[in-house]
Amino acid sequence: MKELKTDLLIIGAGPGGMAAALYAKRSGLDFIIVEKNMAGGQIINTDLIENYPGFLDNPSGFELAQKLSEHCKKFEIDIMEYFSIDKIEEADHKDGGKTYKFKSTGSDSYIYSRALIIATGAKPDRLDVKGEAEFIGKGISFCATCDGALYRGKEVAVVGGGDTAVEEALFLSNLVDKVYLIHRRDELRACDMLQCRARDNGKIEFLWSSVVEEFVGDEKLESIIIKNKNDGSTRKIAVAAAFEYVGWEPNSDMIKHLVDTDQKGFIIADMTMKTSHEAIFAIGDVRNTPFRQVITAVADGAVAAMYVDKYFLEQG
Ligand SMILES: Cc1cc2nc3c(=O)[nH]c(=O)nc-3n(C[C@H](O)[C@H](O)[C@H](O)COP(=O)(O)OP(=O)(O)OC[C@H]3O[C@@H](n4cnc5c(N)ncnc54)[C@H](O)[C@@H]3O)c2cc1C
Repeated sequence: MKELKTDLLIIGAGPGGMAAALYAKRSGLDFIIVEKNMAGGQIINTDLIENYPGFLDNPSGFELAQKLSEHCKKFEIDIMEYFSIDKIEEADHKDGGKTYKFKSTGSDSYIYSRALIIATGAKPDRLDVKGEAEFIGKGISFCATCDGALYRGKEVAVVGGGDTAVEEALFLSNLVDKVYLIHRRDELRACDMLQCRARDNGKIEFLWSSVVEEFVGDEKLESIIIKNKNDGSTRKIAVAAAFEYVGWEPNSDMIKHLVDTDQKGFIIADMTMKTSHEAIFAIGDVRNTPFRQVITAVADGAVAAMYVDKYFLEQG
């Protein structure tokens, strides 16, 4: 096992982690940033980012992620990609006048650090209904940008009612013949602009107050049984694919034993991004934030890096 030591370990190089790294660099902090995949985070799989200020040409998520990576490179930040932290333990490791509080293990190395910024984001929730596990990858997908083109000219469903569900339904409407938007409420949660576009889109049919009861098919997904919550009636719709956008689950398993979380496992942090542990900060989608977007993740990253700097100054 390779042993590394640093003042600050940033875990995750999505928008939040990369912003934290940029601010940490500018503050002259000694830090390491690791990322279990390629740098970029969830936006890599997104078609269009229309709401990130200053980017008037509506970049794809992949392009915005690349811009953030390039910014890190320009600042000579070396993101350790394909490096997953699997275990974090409290430590009391003294060396060179410093006390390292954490030992984070992953990818044949362990990294001692004095502080942590957790920027590990979130992954899609599942519906947990009959047939779902069987058809994931065989018609059920969590990424329209990745898989939408496979269903060109067909009929598909999107499940959910928030910004992401509506954005992805609009994206799919450019490829497929019809999109059923299945939502458990009788109104969408998505912002007004997206709602208007979806309502004006002739290819999107709304199935209000409806939940998926079962995914049905032989080798691949062929149809969905939908239940209307108001009258209990069921209906079967034939679709080639279903895209689920029903919520998020935090990537916090490796740190949950050291910090307070909410019921779903999102890490509780204060306005300085500090958690219940004085040397652990949490940012972006993994935090119990009311809004999960690129702009909030990068803002969290900046705040956390500045307060980590302050924490080190107070520690002496
Ligand atoms: C389909 C879709 C469309 C979206 N559209 C928009 C949009 O238009 N506008 C907008 O503002 N936002 C959009 N979002 C939301 C946006 O992508 C997120 O809010 C944002 O990416 C959160 O950034 P983050 O850095 O907190 O987390 P993430 O982007 O999730 O990044 C976390 C990173 O941590 C890494 N990681 C996880 N666990 C470990 C580990 N154990 N060790 C090392 N690395 C780890 C992950 O691989 C990942 O790269 C969209 C999201 C999706 C899924």
